[in-house]
Amino acid sequence: MTRTVYVNGEYLPETEAKVSIFDRGFLMADAVYEVTSVLDGKLIDFEGHAVRLKRSLDELDMAEPCTKEELLDIHRKLVELNGIDEGLVYLQVSRGSDGDRDFVFPSADTPPTLVLFTQNKPGLADNPAAKKGAKIISIEDIRWGRRDIKTVQLLYPSMGKMMAKKAGCDDAWLVEDGFVTEGTSNNAYFVKAGKIVTRPLSNNILHGITRKAVMRLAKEAQMEVEERLFTIDEAKAADEAFTTSASAFVMPVVEIDGVALGDGTPGPIARRLREIYLDEARKTAI
Ligand code: PLP
Repeated sequence: MTRTVYVNGEYLPETEAKVSIFDRGFLMADAVYEVTSVLDGKLIDFEGHAVRLKRSLDELDMAEPCTKEELLDIHRKLVELNGIDEGLVYLQVSRGSDGDRDFVFPSADTPPTLVLFTQNKPGLADNPAAKKGAKIISIEDIRWGRRDIKTVQLLYPSMGKMMAKKAGCDDAWLVEDGFVTEGTSNNAYFVKAGKIVTRPLSNNILHGITRKAVMRLAKEAQMEVEERLFTIDEAKAADEAFTTSASAFVMPVVEIDGVALGDGTPGPIARRLREIYLDEARKTAI
């Protein structure tokens, strides 16, 4: 089915949507993005994504393409036009183009490029992969130093995912100076003796929208949460582990670098958090 997508104020069939070849998102990865989940035809944590988008734009001195209310309308309209019950809305804002390639930013009044499209993902919540759990490899984190800004510079994370696939695994965790930063496209956690451990927020990791919600829900459920640096060896010796992201929610991890965690199946805390998160997400979706 041909999707209807959004480009700079227009709703178009995907085959007719166009962006300039001089767009700085295309030439320089000078663009930021957000991915919002859709469950039951409604948006999950739209507010969190809108706030983080604004922060990413501010950090890069990029203009806001429209108001938060307009963004919400565009998201909702695309979900409706494309009949999405479970899936994702991808949003990208780039610094636009003044018709040539230059390292110098175009003038501040150059309009940003705003693109949104939907991805239909039936079974997103009832994902069989979550019942099996993910197998992880660890690789060196060689990304740039502002991972808190959600830019489209995704080549290394994408390569990491391919390294994992080549090793017969599902994903990679990134390690810098001996400590795990995060997954290729998710935040990373392990559980030992009932305590959930994850790296504290800084410029070194993305401030996950799902991370924030899951940490709050874990505390509300009287689970112990500790934010500190941790090594891959600690994670390998854990009782269980998991990742969080807007598109995979809470994903149990059952193996790290060939070492099975616990009995090699999704752990009780990860399974419980996935349940609690999905329950709350559906209730608060808009
Ligand atoms: N860390 C990285 C590097 C990511 O790319 C993502 C999501 O794309 C996350 C963490 C999880 O963030 P969120 O929960 O907002 O999807």
